[in-house]
Amino acid sequence: MSDCIFCKIANHEIPSDYVYEDDLVVAFKDLNPLSPVHVLVVPKKHYDNITDNVPAETLAAIAHAIEVVAQKTGIDKTGFRCITNTGDDGGQSVHHLHVHVLGGRKLNPTAGEGE
Ligand code: 5GP
Ligand code: ZN
Repeated sequence: MSDCIFCKIANHEIPSDYVYEDDLVVAFKDLNPLSPVHVLVVPKKHYDNITDNVPAETLAAIAHAIEVVAQKTGIDKTGFRCITNTGDDGGQSVHHLHVHVLGGRKLNPTAGEGE
């Protein structure tokens, strides 16, 4: 989508602080981190959210990217949280599928995101 910020970051039209990239996904640091590690894993192709008929290959690539991001940032050893906000009630503000990878501190077990 031409006016989608994450499409632009994914194709390097707008630069970002990238942590990982392969053929199907990019991972980059969130602009407003809610925890010491806050990385967004984003498919290069535009899907509105997790319910948007995302191919299994892309879902697998997202899972792989999460694993690599966790290893690169060290949170694989301490634990972390993955969240994909979906729709208005889910608090989704950017309507291009993304998974928040949050860690680097003890996260509240009953709250969403970094709260
Ligand atoms: P959502 O609220 O849709 O689940 O999450 C969107 C996330 O994208 C927010 O955490 C916000 O800080 C992040 N974000 C929005 N615009 C940009 C941007 O231009 N660059 C980066 N790196 N993160 C962004
Ligand atoms: Zn997009």
